[in-house]
Amino acid sequence: MDLEIDLKRIDALSKQRREENIEFRFYLEGQDVEKIDNIVHRLNDEISSKIDCVECGNCCLNIRPAADEMVLARFVKDEDIEKVKYVWGFACKNLDGKKCTIYQDRYHECRDFPYLDTDDFIHRVHGVVQNYEICPIVFNVYERLKTELAWKRK
Ligand code: SF4
Ligand code: SF4
Repeated sequence: MDLEIDLKRIDALSKQRREENIEFRFYLEGQDVEKIDNIVHRLNDEISSKIDCVECGNCCLNIRPAADEMVLARFVKDEDIEKVKYVWGFACKNLDGKKCTIYQDRYHECRDFPYLDTDDFIHRVHGVVQNYEICPIVFNVYERLKTELAWKRK
């Protein structure tokens, strides 16, 4: 299985495929919940086992705004909280290079990311796909899902 792990290429492809990905999301929302969950869980197991998160760290470098300030505060320095509340991505205050300085005690949001191993994918796909451009696991799972479902853009 060839995987795309080049972050610059993933970023460029995500811009090119923005409309396509929205169309695929609409298609998924009309599919059978259990069938799609089974495929996504299997693809996530296959793909995440082949991608080294320690070598990537891109999610920690591109945290998305959290709706809840209590949650956001754990990731952002106190003096920066207003500044980052509405920006698209910023680096977590607990990151040192590509290393999480609180890894053993990292928050459940970090442990669960990118949320591909939980159920009800088709009703969460909008949120999950926001991470397509930053997370190689999400990118490859979403692309493989298109292939497995033999989905073609109209
Ligand atoms: S707490 Fe650690 S794992 Fe979570 S976003 Fe920050 S650096 Fe990443
Ligand atoms: S962006 Fe995705 S592949 Fe990269 S470290 Fe985070 S979860 Fe792992």
